[in-house]
Amino acid sequence: MPDSELHIADDDLDLYLMGRLPAPLNSIVKAHIESCHYCAIRAVEQARVLWRMRESLGGADG
Ligand SMILES: [Zn+2]
Repeated sequence: MPDSELHIADDDLDLYLMGRLPAPLNSIVKAHIESCHYCAIRAVEQARVLWRMRESLGGADG
């Protein structure tokens, strides 16, 4: 059974963390992260990756 259908897709997680997810999906992802420990950890890890990417880009739009 594919776990991916039960959890948030990597792409959606990225968009959520960047604040670029459309409102309806954003609510779904937010609710899922708040109730799913697995995705909450993924979100923290991914936020760290995105933050480092921004750092290496110089944070032009801080
Ligand atoms: Zn999940």
